[in-house]
Amino acid sequence: MTNQSYEVEPLGQTKGSCECCGAARRAIWGVVHAAGAETVASYFVTWVPEQALTVHPAHMDLILGAWGEGTGAAERVAVSLLFQHGAEGAELRVIDASGRKIAKNPLVGVALGPDDVMGSPLAKTAFGIFDAVMAQDVRFAV
Ligand SMILES: [Zn+2]
Repeated sequence: MTNQSYEVEPLGQTKGSCECCGAARRAIWGVVHAAGAETVASYFVTWVPEQALTVHPAHMDLILGAWGEGTGAAERVAVSLLFQHGAEGAELRVIDASGRKIAKNPLVGVALGPDDVMGSPLAKTAFGIFDAVMAQDVRFAV
């Protein structure tokens, strides 16, 4: 599945305090569809606009799985990504979703960690969705 096959639908946004340091942070969210078809993920992006990505990372928390009629939290997992600019350029990696607020979301069955995600098809899906959101949700301008 290529990135172009995802359609990003931006939804709400809010301002609040960063989960890690309490700095003023922005949060945006939306859903991702497989092209012209069903919803495949919800995404939540949080970042601190006052600080460059070299100083403070952005996070993307994803809920991946089945969303249609008759589906439940047991069919969905949480995957969290950390995005920052390091010495080597942009870095994107999977972090432990169980330590994120997303883990308590009632829509989530299990919150996964890097060992669950890396090397599984979920990694490709999560990174593909990240790229699609970066390309299509213009609110995340850092
Ligand atoms: Zn922070």
